Amino acid sequence: MRAVSDVGSGAELPAQLRDRLGAILGAQGLVADAGTRYGESWGGAFTAPPSLVARPGSTAEVAATVAACAEAGVAMVPQGGNTGLAGGAQPTRPGCVIISLERMRAVRALDPVNDTITVEAGMTLAEVQARAAEVDRLFPLSLASEGSCQIGGNLSTNAGGTQCLRYGNARAMALGLEVVLPDGQIWEGLRGLRKDATGYDLKQLFIGAEGTLGIITAAVLRLLPRPRDAATAFVAVPDPAAALRLLDRARRHLGESLTGFEVMRRECLDWVLVALPGTASPFAERHPWYVLIEATGQGAPGTLAGLMAEALAAALEEEIVSDATLAASEAQRRRLWALREGQAEAQKAAGFGIKHDVSVPVSAVPTFLARADAALAAALPGIRPFAFGHLGDGNIHYNPLGPAGASAAEVAALRPGANRIVHDIVADLGGSISAEHGLGQLRTEEVRRYKSPVEQAMMAALKRSFDPKGLMNPGTIVPA
Ligand SMILES: Cc1cc2nc3c(=O)[nH]c(=O)nc-3n(C[C@H](O)[C@H](O)[C@H](O)COP(=O)(O)OP(=O)(O)OC[C@H]3O[C@@H](n4cnc5c(N)ncnc54)[C@H](O)[C@@H]3O)c2cc1C
Repeated sequence: MRAVSDVGSGAELPAQLRDRLGAILGAQGLVADAGTRYGESWGGAFTAPPSLVARPGSTAEVAATVAACAEAGVAMVPQGGNTGLAGGAQPTRPGCVIISLERMRAVRALDPVNDTITVEAGMTLAEVQARAAEVDRLFPLSLASEGSCQIGGNLSTNAGGTQCLRYGNARAMALGLEVVLPDGQIWEGLRGLRKDATGYDLKQLFIGAEGTLGIITAAVLRLLPRPRDAATAFVAVPDPAAALRLLDRARRHLGESLTGFEVMRRECLDWVLVALPGTASPFAERHPWYVLIEATGQGAPGTLAGLMAEALAAALEEEIVSDATLAASEAQRRRLWALREGQAEAQKAAGFGIKHDVSVPVSAVPTFLARADAALAAALPGIRPFAFGHLGDGNIHYNPLGPAGASAAEVAALRPGANRIVHDIVADLGGSISAEHGLGQLRTEEVRRYKSPVEQAMMAALKRSFDPKGLMNPGTIVPA
C-alpha cells in the first residue's frame, strides 16, 4: 500500500478545483487515501502518478465533476472496476482526476417483456448477470474478471470474453446509453429500441472508446432467454489446424447452440495445474493443445450432451482429436472451466511474459501461430511458448514467457522487439493488434504503425469534435 501523498492528495491540482469538487461530491465522494486500488492496474502493470479520485454518486454529480475539471483545464480519466489490461484507466501524467463510477450501481429499470435491463455504469458484470437471472433471463457477456469489472468498463473496452462466438461482444449487447460529454453536458440516449433509423448511431461511438469521448453513466442492455441445457467438453488435439477442423465439426453438430470454443497450449495447462490448487488435468497423458467447447440451448436437458458426444465421436473417428471428456455434472463443468479461467493466474505463476491480444481471421490462426513461434524462436532464443484464447473468434492471447530465469528487466528489454515481430505478422494476415483489451497507454503509440493515415485522421477528428481541449483520458487511442 502506498502512502497517501503518493496516491494523490490533490495537492497538485488547483486549490479552487479541489474545493469545488469537495462541494459537489461531499466527503465520501473524494478519495485521498485510496492505496493501490485506483492508482494501480490489475496485476500492477500500470501505476498512476499522483491523482485525485472523484467518486460521484449520480449522473448529475458526474456532470458537475466533469464540468468543473473542464473549466479548470484538468484532465480526467474514467475508471470502472480497474481490471483493464491496457492501462487505460490509469492517468499517464500527474495532476489528473480519476473519476470512478463505483458508487453508481443501481438498476434503473427492468423490462422482461422488452427483454432489457437499464443499469448504472458502475454495476459489476456479475451483478448484471445476477439481476437478469432473477427474471429468468441471460445477460451473455462473460469474462473471468466479471466479479470486479463494471458494465461501463465493459462497454468502453468493447469486451469480448468466452461467449463472444455466439452472442458477439459488448457492442452487440447495448441498445442505449447515457453519457456525460467532456464539457459536462449529459446525452440522454437510454432508448431500449431494436430499430432506430434516425441518423448516426451515436452510442456506438462511445462503445470501445476507452473513456476518450465521454463517461458512460448508464446503459440499456439487451437480455436473452436463459438456457435450459448445456454441454461442456475438454478435448486434446494435436495442433491448431486440428482444432479448427474440430470447430467446423462442432458447428455442424451443434449449430447455433455452440457458445464457446477456447484453446490453450500444453504449457498453459501445465502452469494452471501448478498455480491453482485443486485443479487436475482431465487426461492421463499430456497433449500439445487443448480445446474447451461449450454449447447451451433451450431444449430438454441432455439434448446437447448427446449432440456434443456425436461431434466428438466423429472427430475421434477422423483422428482430429486425441482424447476428450464430457462434463457429466455442473461440478465437473466448473472444474473444466477453472482450467481456462485460471490462465491469467497461471501466467503470473509462470514468470514474466510478453503479452499480445491479437486477432486474425479464424482460418489464419494456425498460420499466425506457426509464423510467430518460428520468428520469435529465431530472434529471441530461449523464449518459451504460452498461448491461449478464444479460437472461435480468431482471438489469441499470445503471451510467450521470457527465457527461464530471466529477470523482469531482462524480459522488458525483449518486449519491443517481440511486439514488432508478432504484430507485423498479425498485420500481414489482416489482423488486429488489440482484439478485446483496447489500446490504453499500452498500444496507443504502437497502433499508429498499423493504421492508415486516413484512419488515424478520422479518429483524431472524432476526438477533436467531442473533446477539443483533449482532457478526457488523454494519451489513450489518440496520442495526447
Ligand atoms: C483475469 C482477467 C480476465 C479478463 N478476461 C477478459 C476477456 O475474456 N475478455 C475481455 O474483453 N477482457 C478481459 N479482461 C480485461 C478487462 O476485464 C476488460 O477490459 C473489462 O471490460 C474492463 O472493465 P473495467 O470495469 O475493469 O474497466 P477499467 O479497467 O476500469 O477501464 C477500462 C477502460 O475503460 C474506461 N472506462 C471505464 N469505465 C468507464 C465509463 N463508465 N465510461 C467511460 N469510460 C470508462 C477506462 O478509462 C479505461 O480506458 C480480463 C481481465 C482480467 C484481469
